[in-house]
Amino acid sequence: MYPDTQLYIDGQWRSAVAGKTIPVTNPATDEVIGNVAHAAQADLDLALAATERGFKLWRDTSAYQRAILMRKAAALLRERAESIAAIMTQEQGKPVAQAKVEILNSADVIDWFAGEASRTYGQIIPARSRDVQQQTLKLPVGPVAAFTPWNFPINQIVRKLSAALAAGCSIIIKGPEETPASPAELIRAFADAGIPAGVIALVYGTPADISEYLIPHPIIRKISFTGSTRVGKHLAALAGQHMKKATMELGGHAPVLIFDDADLDAAAKELALAKFRNAGQVCIAPTRFLIQQGVYEAFVEKFTAAVHDIKLGNGLDEGVTMGPMVLERSVTAIDAFVKDAIAQGAKVSTGGNTLPGSGNFFEPTVLRDVPLSARAMSEEPFGPVALLRPFATYEEAIAEANRLPYGLAAYAYSRSIATVSALGRDVESGMLSINHIGFGLPETPFGGVKDSGHGTEGGSEAIESYLETRFVTVAGR
Ligand code: NAD
Repeated sequence: MYPDTQLYIDGQWRSAVAGKTIPVTNPATDEVIGNVAHAAQADLDLALAATERGFKLWRDTSAYQRAILMRKAAALLRERAESIAAIMTQEQGKPVAQAKVEILNSADVIDWFAGEASRTYGQIIPARSRDVQQQTLKLPVGPVAAFTPWNFPINQIVRKLSAALAAGCSIIIKGPEETPASPAELIRAFADAGIPAGVIALVYGTPADISEYLIPHPIIRKISFTGSTRVGKHLAALAGQHMKKATMELGGHAPVLIFDDADLDAAAKELALAKFRNAGQVCIAPTRFLIQQGVYEAFVEKFTAAVHDIKLGNGLDEGVTMGPMVLERSVTAIDAFVKDAIAQGAKVSTGGNTLPGSGNFFEPTVLRDVPLSARAMSEEPFGPVALLRPFATYEEAIAEANRLPYGLAAYAYSRSIATVSALGRDVESGMLSINHIGFGLPETPFGGVKDSGHGTEGGSEAIESYLETRFVTVAGR
């Protein structure tokens, strides 16, 4: 029912050269359900040689043909969504319906980037002399190394992979060891669609060993990483040292601003879904809820009622809307955040506990009156905890929203045109969603500012970081 995962190198599924594997655990039951091959340097050398050959082949494949193969992969992914969702839930924990949505959205991402392949336009630049033609060409940057986490096993890969393939790059993906089998199914869809050998490699192993080897390697020309700010800064420094382009999609601590004139019913319902989706393990999850004094009590009540509707359990079971956390250590971390906040004066509106028995379960938790001194108000909790506190004025809310070094996502609810139009300028974040939850579409930007990273993984700018601009000037002699 749950497959073991091999490495995918040079068009072949294969074990690691040294035969080493890593166990995979179901976070809902604590059972070991399979294993994943562990790549060492010998495997990476094979992947690097193949990716160099794959790049030469793929960059010379027309954008039209690349798009045809990519759309085939998207169609295969849609056909297989049901069975891949069951695999993802067993290794990652999220309810199977949410796993299926992730897979279907990923197919949309592939289709969208397939379209972008034929829109990588250069320019003709007016020359100073009649017989000179000046032009820019947009060319693929070269082989890419991508590093992706376990919270959205397929979606985190598909944005990097689709942009790279559309641009004409080959790519080595270091996937998440905790959730390896569903990403392998994504790659299988591309392989079955006919993407040539060497264009895509999928490896797993010790993350630090792989990044330290691949990033400085001369064959690799671009890095893309999604994960914590701490690791992102380290990898960006390494990329900088070797003059490699880098896209960094890092941590966040999203503020939510609820004003006195907000539609509280809509806000409570939509934010409860957004906060506890994927057990809160989402970089754009609403985290610091700042609520204007006049509606504080009413919002706390409505939001807590919406959270009571969440059903915690094994994601394979009917009716479950929130699964376990992926890592055991995340439960320990969330428990410590909650205990610290309570010790500092926060009150529990609902939840607050781990579940006894097996599995990494932590209740969906709402803390109110959380003081700024609580650790969770400054460090990214990355779990199922909502932190609520009141504010008096617009200026106070903006100051708190911008207090942290993060700047990924932000949310606001207000019916005032003046408030809504000021927010876009005043909130320091890469993305701001007002009066609805509107992030993550393939055609819209996805990325942060400040310590949340740089570059975007969606929208028309996303392919740019996989391209380089070459200037060619020709005199007609
Ligand atoms: P972590 O920093 O140890 O790991 C995060 C991810 O980075 C994992 O996928 C890991 O395999 C990878 N990683 C770690 N060290 C690496 C290295 N030297 N080279 C290459 N990859 C490396 O944190 P964690 O405890 O596993 O996860 C919790 C934290 O991770 C959260 O606080 C959150 O900030 C971050 N995270 C962010 C996202 C996101 O979508 N931005 C996703 C998952 C985790």
